[in-house]
Amino acid sequence: MSQQNETGPLLDEGEAHPYHVHHGKEDSPFVMISDHAGRMVPERLGDLGLPPDEWDRHIAYDIGIREVGRHLQQALDCLLVEQVYSRLVIDCNRAAGHPTSIPPISDGAPVRGNQGLSAAERQQREEAILHVYHDEIERHLSRRNLDETLFVSLHSFTPAMQDGQARPWHIGLLHDHDPHSARLMKELLEGEGNLCVGDNQPYVLNTQNEYSVPYHAGRRNLPALEIEIRQDLISDEAGQRLWAERLARLLPCLWERRKDMA
Ligand SMILES: [Zn+2]
Repeated sequence: MSQQNETGPLLDEGEAHPYHVHHGKEDSPFVMISDHAGRMVPERLGDLGLPPDEWDRHIAYDIGIREVGRHLQQALDCLLVEQVYSRLVIDCNRAAGHPTSIPPISDGAPVRGNQGLSAAERQQREEAILHVYHDEIERHLSRRNLDETLFVSLHSFTPAMQDGQARPWHIGLLHDHDPHSARLMKELLEGEGNLCVGDNQPYVLNTQNEYSVPYHAGRRNLPALEIEIRQDLISDEAGQRLWAERLARLLPCLWERRKDMA
């Protein structure tokens, strides 16, 4: 990294803004975010020392979830805030300073452009991307009636673990402060007949290993759901549409059931 990187802004004028906002009906209860939708890299970081084929892997972004999120946003006509830069530049679902926030190695691939960073270089990425993205989400939440809001975080996961073991779940529901939404959504998904639904699988949601849901929703005790879809199911347009249509049908049912319980 050059001295110039340590002092100048990370993003040049004309480079993509860190987030993309899709607006919907103001009275929709759903606020959706997509932390790992994009895989852009600021020009001054080059390719982070990774060969081109690595940029097609899950280490760079959540395969398929940007498209699912966009179809779902259109169907629900709700707010969606997408991150456009790669999780390898900075992972927007990690707190600033987290050990995997700017990964020096990701799923076995060394990310040379992330190795040996100075505190100033880390801070530059936090300020240009992480904080700008989360400030935008905060801005929307701060203007809403939070009694009429369900916060939905969208992700996708790899079909196999690092050791090659297959993951059986089609979809996983991650939760921490709000197990009710996850339980209701699990019932709805299992009502589809043939889905294997993970309960805090393939990951457990908590304040140590994740950031977005605890920060925006947990802190406010806001109803929230983190959805993880298996990547092989949403790697093409047909699968992306199928899952978006399914979630667009079930999320309003979840919201109605939540209100009935209240
Ligand atoms: Zn993700």
